[in-house]
Amino acid sequence: MHYQNFINGRFTPSTGNGMVEVRNPSTGAAICTVPDSSTEDVEAAISAAEAAQKEWSRRPAVERGKLLRAIAAEIRKRAEPLARIITEEQGKVLGLARVEVAFTADYLDYMAEWARRIEGEILESDRPGETIFLFRQPIGVVGGILPWNFPFFLIARKAAPALVTGNTIVVKPSEETPHNAVKFCELLDETDAPPGVINMVHGRGATAGKALASSRRIGMVSFTGSVETGSAIMAAAAPNITKVNLELGGKAPAIVMADADIELAVRAVKASRVINSGQVCNCAERVYVQSKVAGEFTEKLSAAMRATRFGDPLADETVDYGPLINEAGYRKVDGLVRGAVAAGAAVATGGARGETAAEGYYYQPTVLANCRQDMEIVRREIFGPVVPIVTFHDLDEAVAFANDSDYGLTSSIYTRDLNVALKACQEIRFGETYINRENFEAMQGFHAGWRKSGIGGADGKHGLYEYTQTHVVYIQRQ
Ligand code: NAD
Repeated sequence: MHYQNFINGRFTPSTGNGMVEVRNPSTGAAICTVPDSSTEDVEAAISAAEAAQKEWSRRPAVERGKLLRAIAAEIRKRAEPLARIITEEQGKVLGLARVEVAFTADYLDYMAEWARRIEGEILESDRPGETIFLFRQPIGVVGGILPWNFPFFLIARKAAPALVTGNTIVVKPSEETPHNAVKFCELLDETDAPPGVINMVHGRGATAGKALASSRRIGMVSFTGSVETGSAIMAAAAPNITKVNLELGGKAPAIVMADADIELAVRAVKASRVINSGQVCNCAERVYVQSKVAGEFTEKLSAAMRATRFGDPLADETVDYGPLINEAGYRKVDGLVRGAVAAGAAVATGGARGETAAEGYYYQPTVLANCRQDMEIVRREIFGPVVPIVTFHDLDEAVAFANDSDYGLTSSIYTRDLNVALKACQEIRFGETYINRENFEAMQGFHAGWRKSGIGGADGKHGLYEYTQTHVVYIQRQ
């Protein structure tokens, strides 16, 4: 099946000949093709978004919120087929795909609730008889560029705050996972979404993505993906001084103190590495364990990881995780593990390609002991079911290790000592810290990385206001 772009409320053929083939990472089977959109296609989508924006922004916010609720309702009606499509093209287990679909609908409803809460300010003037108003205005047309790991949710994470604040949007899904995005556009037909308010262009980063990020007609590019691409997008946006909102990679440290509930820490770290086959930006990517409990923790985590099962999630609903997204992802994970072993890491469990799968990019659940801070596997994002473990002596050393990273998205600490937890929170330099729980952000929080993990953030009030620009009006009474 060949799918088309969605421009001005219609599925529209591409003006170019480029094509992207989408495959099931569990089996290698072909799923569909989408256009590798040309600059002309992208510009046509931006024109549609531009033409729709003025009228859209004139509607009361509560009316705009109603569209988000209508989309949420349509998503819920099709929850199961949508989940299956996500699993087929992305490889996550069905249970997680169902959570993603439900969370997407909830997120749209949540952002709709902000409609009556978008607030400006009235500022005290220095001049007699003057009033100063600060309004929050839409930015105009937003370009949303998405990754493949939570492909359906990311549509809502960008479109919902953009639309409720009066912007229109052009979305470019990942070329790995466009099918669910096509289905999102199909369900818009069942709502009264005005043409041009949401547009979708497919294609690769170097073509469609670059054309979107470098267009002078978008007011903001909201991007989620890798640091390297984030940097390329900043460069593409730079000539036009286009605002960028970047949600980039992570290398979340998990600090396990000797007084921690070890079973809890094991469960949470395991969940972090198993969920979506370890391909989640906020999940624990390196574990620091206090020396006294390193043996016990490593043994228990290895046993827990060994007990997880992987395989084709559509063929067997009971597996814990599926394949990695593609060959490049598989090679990266395998290369990092081999490099770590060559540099002295000890394989506590796993360490190789999954033996059960004839096809698909499966990787064994892996725990590596004896890792050091200078190893590549402790410094680079792995994005696979692999846990490198480094030991430390005291909290100061653990915090120093944790902070010694280009990434600054999320972090976690396991301890029963409130003072230790507080000291860690005061000294750890990350956008998010989880204490005694698994890493997973809330929609009312603010998901924003420090250092190379991003600029700006998503979710909650602060994420909403990323999609606005201020307008200060000075009114002098005569
Ligand atoms: P990626 O950077 O390879 O691709 C993301 C998107 O950017 C795709 O749509 C791609 O086509 C596009 N793209 C690639 N090159 C481009 C260019 N030059 N110009 C414009 N667009 C371009 O990332 P990915 O592999 O899809 O996703 C995995 C990465 O995303 C990981 O690093 C992960 O940590 C990160 N991520 C971060 C968050 C967060 O909230 N911080 C959430 C999910 C994923």
